[in-house]
Amino acid sequence: MREQLVKLVEIIPIEFVVRNIATGSLTKRLGIEDGTVLDYPLVEYCLKNDDLGDPLLSREHILAFKWMDVFELDFIYEEVRRINDFLQGMFRGVGIKLVDFKVEFGRFETDGKREIMLADEISPDTCRLWDMRTDKKLDKDRFRNNLGNLVEAYQEVAIRLNILHEQSNIRPLTYPKPKAVKIKKK
Ligand code: UDP
Repeated sequence: MREQLVKLVEIIPIEFVVRNIATGSLTKRLGIEDGTVLDYPLVEYCLKNDDLGDPLLSREHILAFKWMDVFELDFIYEEVRRINDFLQGMFRGVGIKLVDFKVEFGRFETDGKREIMLADEISPDTCRLWDMRTDKKLDKDRFRNNLGNLVEAYQEVAIRLNILHEQSNIRPLTYPKPKAVKIKKK
């Protein structure tokens, strides 16, 4: 039987983005050449607010508006760097470059003590993953940029990590093109 331990947390309203290679919004925002390898991981903070387009924040914004205190901020900074080290090594071992990823954290109480833990998925939906030799995109950019073969790319990642059986019967969904619906006037 498969089991999952679930913990209720209060989500911190910040998205933590770690980048090893410049692409996506970073290159657009700052005019950096796509694919530039960064000398060391870059940690960015974005406010979780869809209406505002998840704006980029500085540490000072986070502290000024009390979205986190300095201890939480420093703790999470160290955690995302550790997560990046671990994931980079894991993906490198299967011929994949971890370009960047986004994670969120949550607060919870245990024995009257406030703690923070990772509260997010880590998947090709939230990471950019490029094939080590060809730079083929194996992540959600295939969907974002209409590159096709999304399911195959996700399966490729899972197969390389040995977490999906090669004979898996997962297939892309086929559905008819949505049609305009005529609304009858009363
Ligand atoms: N990301 C995410 N959710 C978001 C925004 C970003 O998972 O709401 C991930 C995205 O998949 C990429 C990284 O965070 O791995 C950096 O994304 P970027 O800021 O370049 O965003 P983009 O403009 O490409 O959405």
